[in-house]
This record gives sequence, structure tokens and C-alpha cells, in this order.
Amino acid sequence: MINVNTENPISKSKCRACLADRSTFFLEKHGHVYRRCENCGLVFADISEEELLKINRSVYDDTFGGELPSPDSEFSKKKLRRHHFILKKLAPHKTDGKILEVGCGNGAFLETARNEGWDPVGIEIAEEAAAAAKSRDLEIHTTLLDECQFEDKKFDIVLMNEVLEHVWDPRSLLDEIFRILKPGGALFLRTRNPDSWTADFCGVHWHHYSVQEQGHVSFFPPKAFRTVLGDIGFTQINVRTWGSAFDDRFPKKKKLTRKAAKYFGKLIGPLETKLEKGQRIEVLAVR
Ligand SMILES: [Zn+2]
Repeated sequence: MINVNTENPISKSKCRACLADRSTFFLEKHGHVYRRCENCGLVFADISEEELLKINRSVYDDTFGGELPSPDSEFSKKKLRRHHFILKKLAPHKTDGKILEVGCGNGAFLETARNEGWDPVGIEIAEEAAAAAKSRDLEIHTTLLDECQFEDKKFDIVLMNEVLEHVWDPRSLLDEIFRILKPGGALFLRTRNPDSWTADFCGVHWHHYSVQEQGHVSFFPPKAFRTVLGDIGFTQINVRTWGSAFDDRFPKKKKLTRKAAKYFGKLIGPLETKLEKGQRIEVLAVR
């Protein structure tokens, strides 16, 4: 019997960020394969868009659960400090204050933004989280961004916090974000860096490599951001990386080893940032 490969090898290997058709096998974890683009360095999972959407809806629901944390909790206070820190970075791009958060969860960030004089809009596809965001009296859309059909040049800011790694077709999403940003407006996002020392050291053990459990399918290294956002037409592209999780490499029961790995990560922190090898990555790109 002859085995016929019915899958289209072209669509499988094509990078969903820079669109080059040059990618190779990168790693396999729990039955899912990640490929890596030889042009821009994007690491992306071999999975159908439909399958991913199902995972993402359940992941978001599990994560946010729709519940709002008590405003007095230490967790909330810490979050609030982070919100203020981010809003300060975005302030130079503010004109009428229209800000869109894609994947806004329960809307906590957008509520802080509104309290500081911004005009917020959110997108959230997980029902429970969207309901929680709506309960804050925010404008929330529960469809994907391209289905919202926002007018051209509507927003000062589009923000995505740990969302891009869940996106099956990041190029289309970034193209759409460019369309709806005002000239001088900015894309601000945070995601995870597959070119980090943590990802190199931990390999398949890096907990962010997780298709089935977390819906993580697209990882941009700094180079991919510069290539792809530059292609789209963004002008200033600022990329910063920081932080590590070398302890991911070791099983939970190896407590002492994990502690030492964590400590080592703290020691080399400044060097990591300098060489863009941190596992967290933040991008501010101006249209
Ligand atoms: Zn690519």
C-alpha cells in the first residue's frame, strides 16, 4: 500500500508572520510540532485555526474565570501599579485617548485607563471574562478583531498583553492593527521570547511551549518583530526583553536545584536584557 500525503506542504511550512516559505521542524511536545521560520525566526505550531480557537476559548475561561479580584488585595494593587507604569509609557501617543485592548480579560486594565482619562474599547472572546469586563460598564466586543470592522486610523493605542502567542495568523492581526492606528499612534504588546536563554536552556521543558494546555502557537523573537513590523510600515520599533525561568528545566521535586536556577537567573538579569535574551518581551511600535 502506498501512503499518500494529502496535506499541503506549502501551507504547512509558510511562516504566518513574515510569509516566507522557509521553515523547518523545531521541536515536538505532547504530540504538537513547532516549526521555525528561517527568515524571521518565528516559532509557530502546526495546528489548524479551528482547533486553536476551541483551545483559546477554554484557556481564557479557565484563566480569568470571570471573577473580579477584590480591589484591596495585594494582587490588585500590584496590577494597578503595572497599569500605571504602562499608561505612562503610552502617554506620548495620546491625542483623543482612544485605546483598544485585544484580549482584555476581565477589563481591569481598561478600567484603570478610563480612570486616567482614556477612552477604552476591549475585545475578549472568552464569554465569562467578557461578561466580567462588561460589568465594569466598558465597551467590549466578543468577536475577533477583523470582525469588529473598526474605521481606519481610529485608535491612539492598540495593546495586547500576552495575546500574540495565542494567535494563529499574527500577520493578519498586525496588518489590521496598523490599519486602525492613527499616524503617530502605537502598538504596545508583551509576549514571550523563543530566542531567550531560558527557552534555549529549557527546550521542550519551557512551560510556554504548550499548544494543548495554553494555546501557545506563535513566538516572536526580537528579530521577527523588527522584520515583520518594519514590513507592515511601523516606523520606530522598540523591543525590550527581560527575566528568566531556568527552573522550568527541572522537575518540581528538585526544589533546591530549581531554587539555584532561579537565583542564577536573577544574577544574569542585566546581561540578559542587554543581549535581548530575556524570556519576556515588550514591543512599542509607532505607526
Ligand atoms: Zn518568518
